[in-house]
Amino acid sequence: MDEDVSFSEIRDSVRRLCTKFPGSYWRALDRAREYPREFVTQLTAAGFLGVLIPEEFGGSGLGLGAGIAVLEEIHRAGCNGGAAHAQMYTMGTLLRHGSEDQKRRLLPEIAAGRLRLQAFGVTEPTSGTDTTRIQTFARKAGDRYIVNGQKIWISRAEHSDLLLLLARTTLRSDVEKPTDGMSVFLVDLAQSVGKGLTIRPIRTMINHATTELFFDDLEVPADCLIGREGNGFRYILDGMNAERILIASECIGDGKFFIDRASAYARERSVFGRPIGENQGVQFPIARAHVQVSAAEEMVKKAAALFDAGRPCGTEANMAKLLASEASWFAADMCVQTHGGFGFAEEFDIERKFRETRLYQVAPISTNLILSHVATHVLGLPKSF
Ligand SMILES: Cc1cc2nc3c(=O)[nH]c(=O)nc-3n(C[C@H](O)[C@H](O)[C@H](O)COP(=O)(O)OP(=O)(O)OC[C@H]3O[C@@H](n4cnc5c(N)ncnc54)[C@H](O)[C@@H]3O)c2cc1C
Repeated sequence: MDEDVSFSEIRDSVRRLCTKFPGSYWRALDRAREYPREFVTQLTAAGFLGVLIPEEFGGSGLGLGAGIAVLEEIHRAGCNGGAAHAQMYTMGTLLRHGSEDQKRRLLPEIAAGRLRLQAFGVTEPTSGTDTTRIQTFARKAGDRYIVNGQKIWISRAEHSDLLLLLARTTLRSDVEKPTDGMSVFLVDLAQSVGKGLTIRPIRTMINHATTELFFDDLEVPADCLIGREGNGFRYILDGMNAERILIASECIGDGKFFIDRASAYARERSVFGRPIGENQGVQFPIARAHVQVSAAEEMVKKAAALFDAGRPCGTEANMAKLLASEASWFAADMCVQTHGGFGFAEEFDIERKFRETRLYQVAPISTNLILSHVATHVLGLPKSF
């Protein structure tokens, strides 16, 4: 492949950085459910999280092709980009729909890493995937909005300066289309915690710094609104395509991690007087994982190229996420099986990566919802909801 397209220099630098963060670093954090501060600090300092921000705002303006190179390498090295990936793409809503003043004020700070915009608040406990039924409401009162409601699974809220918040500004019953009447705000978290916003961490099967948010008459200055009131749902949609493509690239990295580890182990582990990798019963699942990850990778690249060309890519982004998350999960299972009992030992890092890669069939969008999109939008099957 062409040097520029594969971003081989970026890949090399990410690999070098990741060697400073071996399995022992991640295992200790995983046990304590602590945030990988030093890893994120170094990624930020190296400029890897600003690859999507245009140069005029201090980023490198390289696009998703570079973003997928960064995240794939992080994951292939056994690290986890989930701690910081949102710093790459959450700013897209601000970049595409923010005012000139908001962009000039905030984007250079985000690009430099002085301002962390890596919390994205959409999901709510009662609405689930049906985003049009969110209940969090922002009521205009003079030069402020008063926010009430609740969000769940909002990751990195405790490690972010700003939260991109989706809230209703008009009741669902009062709008023509259910997707109308929602708005996007940039909430200053330091200004808000304890003054109407409570953040409560949720302990999960992975170390993901995810939280619940409770809004109780939180006052947000009116100039924190992005774009026009009521258009928020549309604004977050194109950001979601970037998110799905980037997360798919993390799955590709995970898949390659599992294949690398399984191949190495199958070559060296000797049972019945020969390497286990000589047995086709062991070889074939590794080969199948490689086939599946390679196929998914092509779809990720296709989706990223469409996104970077400014062309519609919703279906490709969804298909890339589905294929990549299923390929990484197959590879994870294969890797545990190849390692036998050692697949369960913490010190091999496989059980940790196995848990981590399982997330991607649920978040940021679950497999069924992708299949529903393909069935109804691509194949013209009747809508089920
Ligand atoms: C660790 C973690 C981090 C997250 N981080 C964030 C974040 O930072 N910000 C944020 O906003 N959200 C975040 N999420 C939320 C995530 O996007 C949602 O969990 C995901 O979209 C699924 O929504 P849900 O959990 O409400 O499932 P539900 O919508 O309740 O669905 C439950 C199951 O039913 C299936 N289902 C639902 N409806 C249908 C249907 N009509 N047909 C077929 N199947 C259906 C779904 O596919 C799913 O498998 C995170 C979640 C997790 C677990």
